[in-house]
Amino acid sequence: MPTPDTRVRSRSLRFHGPGDIRLDEAAERALAPDEVRLRPLAVGVCGTDAHIVAGSFPAEPGVVLGHEVCGRVVEVGAGLDEANAPRVGDLVTVEPHRYCTACTWCRAGQEHLCAGKRGYGVHLDGGMAESMVVPARIAYVLPPDTVPWVGALCEPVACCIHAVDRLGIVAGEALLVLGSGPAGAVLAALGRLLGATPIVAADTREGRRDLALRMGADVAIDPRDPDQVRAAVDLTGGEGYPAVVDAVGSSAVLEQAITLARRGGRVLEFGVASPHDVAAVRPHDLFSRELTLLGSVINPWTHQRAVALLPRLGLDRLSTAFHGLHEFDEALAAQRRGDVDKVFVAPAGAAAAREPAR
Ligand SMILES: [Zn+2]
Ligand SMILES: [Zn+2]
Repeated sequence: MPTPDTRVRSRSLRFHGPGDIRLDEAAERALAPDEVRLRPLAVGVCGTDAHIVAGSFPAEPGVVLGHEVCGRVVEVGAGLDEANAPRVGDLVTVEPHRYCTACTWCRAGQEHLCAGKRGYGVHLDGGMAESMVVPARIAYVLPPDTVPWVGALCEPVACCIHAVDRLGIVAGEALLVLGSGPAGAVLAALGRLLGATPIVAADTREGRRDLALRMGADVAIDPRDPDQVRAAVDLTGGEGYPAVVDAVGSSAVLEQAITLARRGGRVLEFGVASPHDVAAVRPHDLFSRELTLLGSVINPWTHQRAVALLPRLGLDRLSTAFHGLHEFDEALAAQRRGDVDKVFVAPAGAAAAREPAR
């Protein structure tokens, strides 16, 4: 007679192809010596998830979604050093990437540019599940009083920290952030901590402009309104902005960013644009105004800094909505509508995502 399978079973939200997301249940696998098992409490839903579901961001069929993860450790691998590794009961945030460790970039200290980079929630099983297994190396312990949904924002915050590193924000210089979704708003908050002044945010949606103002922008404009754009340039004495970010990821926004940069300015591409979107850039502009065009991708070695900065960013000013694993369609629709600032999947229920558990 076969022995019954007594392993714990848990549910996961899996991507099977564009528009095909299924909640399944399976036995939990044993841990490798260097791994930890989490119970995810809050998992951010972001534009990348919407792109994956729509088929415009390539993801591995069968993968569990969710790359902005905060959870509680429930089991640790046998090979982990108690002094350095997360322990059972710790609240952790996940740095959701695996690198090949052997390519040119990994060996040059630029592992975020790894030729074989794989993302949790994209290529490897992510956090929209009752259980998530990750190497301890990518689980970062949070202070125990952290609100889980705030902890889940370490991932986007770490990407924003890399962005401001790339941009080289200088105290007393003006900053223009085009696009005020949650990431754009975090960029405004970081700009404030770094001493940028004035900080101007731009978004076509009024709710997003309000968010930017709550998070640290001095002024928020509608970038479609020429009078408001002119007023924003007037704030710099008509010179334009030394530091400009495209936090939307669009050719039209990049073109506007270049127009609004001052001579000698830096323009950073931060938003995730469609690979097919092509911007018109005049080489003469880059030459004669000596502009610097920069890109910023993910979060090289900035996750620990995100943990440290988390309490200073005022993230509790974001309005939130929480959905269970069985309500992913509603979560995605709410993310698309944008009428709350940030939407989360809460695999253990909304209360567990909102309250520090101890
Ligand atoms: Zn994200
Ligand atoms: Zn590599």
